[in-house]
Amino acid sequence: MTPEAGDDSRNPRIAIVGAGPAGLMAAELLASAGCAVTLYDRMPSPARKFLIAGRGGLNLTHSEPRAPFLARYGTAADWLAPFIDAFPPARLRAWAEGLGEPIFVGSSGRVFPRSFKASPLLRAWLARLDGLGVVLKSRHRWLGWNREGALRLAGPEGEMEVAADAVLLALGGASWPRLGSDGGWADLLGEQGVAIAPLRPANSGVRIDWSAPFRARFAGAPLKRIALSVGEARVRGEAMIDGAGLEGGAVYALSATLREAIAVHGTAILHIDLRPDVAADALAARLAASRKGESTSNRLRKAAGLAPAAAGLLREAGPLPADPAVLAHLIKALPLAATGMAGLERAISTAGGVTRAMIDDQLMLKARPGVFVAGEMLDWEAPTGGYLLQASFATGHAAACGILARLGLGRPEPWSGRWEAGEAAGVAGEWSRDDG
Ligand SMILES: Cc1cc2nc3c(=O)[nH]c(=O)nc-3n(C[C@H](O)[C@H](O)[C@H](O)COP(=O)(O)OP(=O)(O)OC[C@H]3O[C@@H](n4cnc5c(N)ncnc54)[C@H](O)[C@@H]3O)c2cc1C
Repeated sequence: MTPEAGDDSRNPRIAIVGAGPAGLMAAELLASAGCAVTLYDRMPSPARKFLIAGRGGLNLTHSEPRAPFLARYGTAADWLAPFIDAFPPARLRAWAEGLGEPIFVGSSGRVFPRSFKASPLLRAWLARLDGLGVVLKSRHRWLGWNREGALRLAGPEGEMEVAADAVLLALGGASWPRLGSDGGWADLLGEQGVAIAPLRPANSGVRIDWSAPFRARFAGAPLKRIALSVGEARVRGEAMIDGAGLEGGAVYALSATLREAIAVHGTAILHIDLRPDVAADALAARLAASRKGESTSNRLRKAAGLAPAAAGLLREAGPLPADPAVLAHLIKALPLAATGMAGLERAISTAGGVTRAMIDDQLMLKARPGVFVAGEMLDWEAPTGGYLLQASFATGHAAACGILARLGLGRPEPWSGRWEAGEAAGVAGEWSRDDG
């Protein structure tokens, strides 16, 4: 990006710290409105988490109707609603298409760029920002404020101080810290009297104490077409056995429930239905009908249709019941004791963050007028399915609107199009990736 444009002294100077989806979206809007925008990021290149999110298929948003969509944000739904209403899924879709990335709605309702990747979108986006004169300063880590209220940043040439007409902090959560967002901002804001809900793993795996032989044999094995339940909550999908427990989309979808149950009781019981598409009595009849003298492994494979990892999981729970009805019941509701959540370093996203009481309805910090916050560093969480990026983009957009209003630069045109990202494009087959 051009090194000089952000220094244009005729225009309001905006410093954005954090070049992820939230910070970049704000930069686009502010630079389009004539602000001189400088983006700082501690990493050598921008949007590393966004790029990783695109590694297995970039799930930008979801096409479901407004009410169920917003309900995915749980207790934060009413807080985020005005931001998402101003920058809804259809607008995000139109934005991506405007960058030359056709959009595809999977049969699951999830919305992806047709390339499935983040890199073409990011390349086009950075070129657009460059054209708007946005200056990117990588390898600059935010350290807090000096006494005069200027930002302190540690860059390749040492510590520097940056004064700006408005500041946006878009520093992300604390998951996958090697991609840049490490949650280090929580202490810096805490020192300013900003209340932060503790940063905890969201959309993360669970810990299960496997026996050593089970771990050695099945770590890395997928469990396909299963259903998981915790209490009343039940999810169909896939999971992956790993050395420390279970990972994968179905586990992530239950991770908020699991995390709260483990926080209260120390453990939580996760039930796996290894054959959700077959009723217990039908399964019992098939098991009962299997040939006399047939080995248990063969019975589980042929009569119950279990893959070796699923059969191994059954054996891990203890001796197998001989009675077909009892065995069928176990296959339909195998209890596993979850002893903890996988750490933040492996979680897809972060729960907790800057609490809503700390900011006004324009996303400005009450304790530091002129400083706005956006993205995953705010105190909301959501399941995978595109909801994380949607809220990050929308709050980045909202914070930029707040900055423009504060500087007396007006508001961008409201979105007049539809809300939902669009009808399913009739693409055959389910896009099964489930971790974002
Ligand atoms: C493996 C994986 C897959 C995912 N897949 C999807 C998906 O398909 N769909 C979806 O909706 N979501 C997905 N997500 C989540 C999504 O990527 C995040 O929610 C989103 O990137 C958050 O955007 P953000 O701008 O708030 O923060 P981030 O993208 O985390 O960006 C924050 C930026 O701030 C910088 N920063 C942090 N601290 C400092 C500091 N002190 N000084 C300077 N810079 C700093 C960081 O380097 C980083 O560049 C995925 C996440 C992971 C880990």
